[in-house]
Parts: sequence; structure tokens; C-alpha cells
Amino acid sequence: MPVSHGTGQVPSQGSPTGEAHPMTATGLLLDRGKTRKRGCHLRKRIMVTGGAGFMGAHLCERLLAEGHDILCVDNFYTGSRDNIAHLLGHPHFELLRHDITFPLYVEMDEIYNLACPASPVHYQNDPVQTTKTSVHGSINMLGLAKRVRAKILLASTSEVYGDPEIHPQQEGYWGRVNPIGPRACYDEGKRCAETLFFDYHRQHGLRIKVARIFNTYGPRMHPDDGRVVSNFIMQALTGEPITLYGDGIQTRSFCYVDDMVEGLVRLMDSRDEFIGPVNLGNPEEYTMRSLAERVLDLAGSNSPLTHRPLPKDDPQRRCPDITLARQELDWRPTTRLEDGLSRTIDYFRAKYGATSETCHNQLGPDR
Ligand code: NAD
Ligand code: UDP
Ligand code: UDP
Repeated sequence: MPVSHGTGQVPSQGSPTGEAHPMTATGLLLDRGKTRKRGCHLRKRIMVTGGAGFMGAHLCERLLAEGHDILCVDNFYTGSRDNIAHLLGHPHFELLRHDITFPLYVEMDEIYNLACPASPVHYQNDPVQTTKTSVHGSINMLGLAKRVRAKILLASTSEVYGDPEIHPQQEGYWGRVNPIGPRACYDEGKRCAETLFFDYHRQHGLRIKVARIFNTYGPRMHPDDGRVVSNFIMQALTGEPITLYGDGIQTRSFCYVDDMVEGLVRLMDSRDEFIGPVNLGNPEEYTMRSLAERVLDLAGSNSPLTHRPLPKDDPQRRCPDITLARQELDWRPTTRLEDGLSRTIDYFRAKYGATSETCHNQLGPDR
């Protein structure tokens, strides 16, 4: 794989017509600094970091369907080839196995920076790497965007609000994050990434977009990621007890992945002056107990409920105020929780069957 690390040089290679053209690291053959026209449609060169993850795979699929050239960059820490297997043969899709904490020299028009483990179990597995991915990774992607004048979007998170004192959370709220707790590697990493995005914008005039994503679920979630939706569905399907942490009255709001992808694309395509941060999430709020009851009902399961200790620093309430996204992006989620859960249950049932043994997937760095 002809990737140049840290040299600043983009390797040249002959085109199919024999001419020398600038090449991207993975060989997307493109005119440097230009977006190609395809009929009246602009085909953009778009990089999705974390593209083999849950949300990234849906985003790649969507952008590919719009006719763009997609470079999916992933180190497979929590993502998998399986998630994008159906895209691998597509002539406008390329996969690059790469850890974004290392420099990367490619030519792009837009960058969606999604790389980062998202579930508490995964991001706490190697907390130093989690912070590095958000901070060093963002610096590298911003440096890349600066060099090629690309537009760049950060998948930030509602976790920047920590365990919030105001409800629902608006973008102007600065948050309440424990900087030394077990969630800090993720929360503070993303907060620092936001700082970097805004400073590259102010200092270097970079075109940035910052999305604060609230809990998102859907097909291609990792069955062992410990998140509440995947846990409850797997437990319901295998007849194991549904694990409610704490008293189960803490709340979250759940956005179906297709709605989230729509929001991210609208944000990227929004006017340059609108840079965020903007909340993207579903403003319907549920207790974990009521989520459990819905999953049991939709899966037709008799699994009993069981209580486990509440993890440290677990936020009590979380719900987005999406007024800004409605105004600026004309966006709001349209998938009802029951419909999204049913589709996710169908996916887990088809992929993992009824036994938990078939879904075990060892977590570990693959880099
Ligand atoms: P995910 O774990 O399924 O996907 C993350 C992807 O990033 C994986 O494919 C992983 O292998 C890759 N990755 C991790 N570290 C990397 C590195 N150093 N270099 C290259 N690739 C790396 O998570 P997701 O749910 O798809 O989340 C995607 C993004 O959205 C993350 O940035 C996450 O913080 C953000 N987000 C997600 C949610 C949610 O509810 N899913 C909520 C808020 C924010
Ligand atoms: N970088 C990269 N790809 C590029 C350009 C830069 O990965 O195409 C990385 C490089 O490692 C650099 C970082 O981005 O250290 C930040 O770049 P910037 O130009 O902002 O700063 P500097 O090069 O001065 O460190
Ligand atoms: N949770 C739960 N049982 C589980 C997994 C999670 O009750 O098996 C709770 C968890 O304590 C939290 C909520 O569900 O209050 C959402 O957890 P998740 O890890 O999905 O996301 P996050 O805490 O990052 O919002």
C-alpha cells in the first residue's frame, strides 16, 4: 500500500491512459485540488475515518450511493471488514488500514472524522489510545485538511456535557465532566478535539463542522460493545437476564443510525459560516427500564430484569435540544424508536442467531 508517512509527498503514478497524475495514497485517481464533475453532479473525494465502524459504514454506504469517491480509513480497533464487505468491490470505494494517530498524506475534498471507539467498554479498554485518537488523530486530520484545503467534520459527542446540570442540553452549555474519571479519556479527548477544530478554524481559516452526537443505534452495532441497546437486544434474544445498571431510571435518547447519517451529511453540506457545534440526536427521552421493556416486547422475549451497579460517572439524564439543527439543517429524526429497534433486532437475529456463543468477538487492537 503506497502510503507516505510524514514526508508530505504524494506519490505519483501513471494513469490508465499512461499520463502521470497525482495519486492519493490508495490510488483514487484524481486531479489535485479539484472536484470532478459527473454529469451535473459533483463527485467529491471524501474520506471517512472510522469508516469500518458502526456509524462510519452507514455513512460510507450513503456517500457512495450519492456518487462520491470514498476512502475509508480504519485501524479495525472496534470496526470490522464485515461492516463494509459489501462495499469492497465498488469501483469508487477504497479501504485503507491506518491508525489516524499517525500522519496520513492523501488528497481529499471532505473529511468525516469518526475514528474513535464509542462505547464505554471499548474506549476504557485502552484509555491512552482513546485520548490519542481524539487528540493526535484530530491534529493529523486537521493538518491534512489544512494542507489540501478540505472541509472537515468532527464526530463529537453529547459526552462533552458530562453529567449535565441543565436539561435538555443546548450547545451553549459548557458541561460537567470529571477530568480524571474513567470516562475522561473519551469526554476530554473529544472536548480537546473540539478545541483543536475551532483553533484551526480561527488560526488557519479551515472550514470545519462539529457535530455533538447523542446515543445512536442500529444494525452493525458491535454485539459485545456493552452499550445498552446492543446489550439488551442480545440478552433478549438469548434469553439471558436484561442487565439494568443502577435503578434503571437514568435516561438517554436514542437516534436511529439512518437519521444520524442524514444529519451528518446535511451538516457537511451546510453553508460555510455554520460550523457548529450542533446537537444531533433524538429528543425523545427514555429511562433504561422503559427501554428494556420495549426491547423485551419487540423481541418477544421473557428474559428477566436484573440489576447491576451503576458505572462510575454514569450521566443521570441526557437529552438533546435540537432547535439549532432544525433551524440550520432543517433536520430532525424521523424514525420511531419501535421501528428502529425492530430493524436492529432483526439484524441481530439474522447475524448472530439465538445463541450468544456465535456472537463472541474478541476485542483487541489490530494495528
Ligand atoms: P465504532 O466503535 O463502531 O466506530 C469507530 C471506528 O473507529 C471503528 O471502526 C474503529 O476501528 C475506528 N478507530 C478507532 N480508533 C482509530 C484510530 N486510531 N485510527 C483509525 N480508526 C480508528 O463507533 P461508532 O458508534 O460508529 O462511533 C463513530 C463516531 O461517532 C465516534 O467518533 C464516536 O465517538 C462518535 N459518537 C458515536 C455515538 C454513538 O452513539 N454511536 C455517540 C456520540 C458520538
Ligand atoms: N499531517 C498529516 N497529513 C497532511 C498534513 C499534515 O497527517 O497531509 C499531520 C502532520 O503529522 C502534522 C499535523 O498533521 O504534524 C499537523 O499539521 P500542521 O500543518 O497543522 O502542523 P505542523 O506540520 O506544523 O506540525
Ligand atoms: N446500561 C444499562 N445496562 C447495560 C448497559 C448500559 O443499564 O447493559 C445503562 C448505562 O448505565 C447508561 C445507559 O444504559 O446509563 C447508556 O449506556 P451506554 O453505554 O449505551 O451509553 P452512554 O452511557 O455512553 O450513554
